[in-house]
Amino acid sequence: MTRDLIIVGGGPAGASCARRASKLGLDVLVFEKAVHPRRKACGGGLILQVRESLDFDISSVIEREQCGLRLHSPSGIIAESHRQEITGYTVRREDFDYLLLKKAEEAGAEVIQNTKVTDVVEEANCISVITNEEREKAKLVVGADGVNSTIARKSGLHERWKDNEIALTFEASIPMDSADILRISGSPEHHECVFIDIFFGATPLGYAWAFPKKNEYSLGIGAMVSVMSNFKESWVKFVHNFMERHNVECDLSQQTATRIPLGGLIPNLCSKRIMLAGDSAGFVSPATGEGIHYAIESGMMAAKVAQGIVEGRSDVTTASYAKTCRETIGNDLRIGRVLQKLLFKSTENMERFIRMCEKDEVMKEYSLELVMGYVPFKTSRSRMTKRMLRKHLGQAIRLLI
Ligand SMILES: Cc1cc2nc3c(=O)[nH]c(=O)nc-3n(C[C@H](O)[C@H](O)[C@H](O)COP(=O)(O)OP(=O)(O)OC[C@H]3O[C@@H](n4cnc5c(N)ncnc54)[C@H](O)[C@@H]3O)c2cc1C
Repeated sequence: MTRDLIIVGGGPAGASCARRASKLGLDVLVFEKAVHPRRKACGGGLILQVRESLDFDISSVIEREQCGLRLHSPSGIIAESHRQEITGYTVRREDFDYLLLKKAEEAGAEVIQNTKVTDVVEEANCISVITNEEREKAKLVVGADGVNSTIARKSGLHERWKDNEIALTFEASIPMDSADILRISGSPEHHECVFIDIFFGATPLGYAWAFPKKNEYSLGIGAMVSVMSNFKESWVKFVHNFMERHNVECDLSQQTATRIPLGGLIPNLCSKRIMLAGDSAGFVSPATGEGIHYAIESGMMAAKVAQGIVEGRSDVTTASYAKTCRETIGNDLRIGRVLQKLLFKSTENMERFIRMCEKDEVMKEYSLELVMGYVPFKTSRSRMTKRMLRKHLGQAIRLLI
C-alpha cells in the first residue's frame, strides 16, 4: 500500500502537518520515535500567533498568560515592558505536543509511536521510509524530526550544522510552589499574569531565560557552539543567582542539554518527494530562539503543498513549498540572523542595547514587539534602527561597528 504522505516526527511541525493534511483528505501516517506525552527541553514560551494558527482550543494546556517582558543586561540593568493585554503564553511541551498529536489523530492521521525512522529512499514512483521493524511507501515524506533530523541527513538535504549555526542549550523545568512563582514573576496589576525574563550575557555571548509555568520554572541558558565556554558552570551559576535573588530552593538534578538551530534557513528544503519542516529545516528565530510557531506554520504549508501534488496539480511541486518558506519564514530568519550577530557580538553590545531600552519607553515597546512576534522582524528592524538613529546616535554607531 502506498500512502499519500508519511510524516517523520510528531512534534509541533509533524502533528500540525498531519492534522492539516488529513483534513485536506490525504491518507497520512506519522512515525514518532518517542511515546507522547514525552519530555522536551524547551522554554515553552508561545507567541500569540500560535493560538491563532491552530483550529482548536489550547486553553487546557496553557500554564500561564504573560503580560510583559523583563530584559536583563549583563551588568544587571532591567528593561521592563508591560501591557494591559496578554502578550503570550507558556505551556509544558509534554502537554502541548501531546494535544497537537491527539488532534492529528482525531482528524484521521494514523500515528505510530515508539518507532524510529532510520532511513528514507526515493524511488521512481514513490518513497520508502524505513524503521527498525518495517518499510512503508508513500508518495511524499515530510521530515519533521527536529534538529537532529535523520530525514535531512539520509536524503542528503542537510548533512550537519556548523558550529556558528547551532546553539547548545542547558535547561531544567524546576518544580516550584505557585505562590513563589507569582511572587517572582507576577504582575503587580494583574496578579495571575506573569513576566518572562531574559538574561543577556548569563553565559559568554549567550543568554538565559526564566519562563514561569503553573508549578515549575523553565530555567535555561543557550549560546552558539562556536562561542560557548564553561557551559554547565554558567547554567549552575545562573540558577544559583536566581535562587539567591528570589529566596527559593531549586532542584538542579534534572537538567537536559539540547541543540537548537539558530543559523537561519538551510539551503535545500526539499527534494522531489521530501519536504523538511520545523527545526529539521532550521526554522527557529536566530534572534529569539522561538521555533514553535514556525514549526506549526511550516507543517501546515507542507500539508497544503502535499495536497496539490497528490491531486496531480501540475503547478504544484515540493519546490513550491521551498519557495513559500523562503518568502515567508526565510525573510524573518534572515533579519533575525543579522540582529543576532549584532546583539550577541559582544557583552558591550548586549549592555548597550538593554540600556537603550531601559531609558526609552519606545525602544522598550519595540523590544517587546520583537520578542513576542507582534510584527514581522523587518518592521521591528526598521523601527528600532530609526529610533536608535534619532535618539541614541552614539550608542547606535558603537553597536553597529
Ligand atoms: C532549550 C530550548 C528552549 C526552547 N524554547 C522555546 C520557546 O520558549 N518558544 C519557542 O517557540 N521555541 C522554543 N524552542 C524551539 C522549539 O523547541 C522548536 O523550534 C520546536 O520544538 C520545533 O518543533 P519540531 O516539531 O520541528 O521539532 P521537535 O519538537 O523537536 O519534534 C520532533 C519530533 O520528532 C521525533 N523524532 C526525531 N527523530 C525521529 C526519528 N528518526 N523517527 C521518528 N521520530 C523522530 C522526536 O521524538 C520529536 O517528537 C526551544 C528549544 C530548545 C532546545
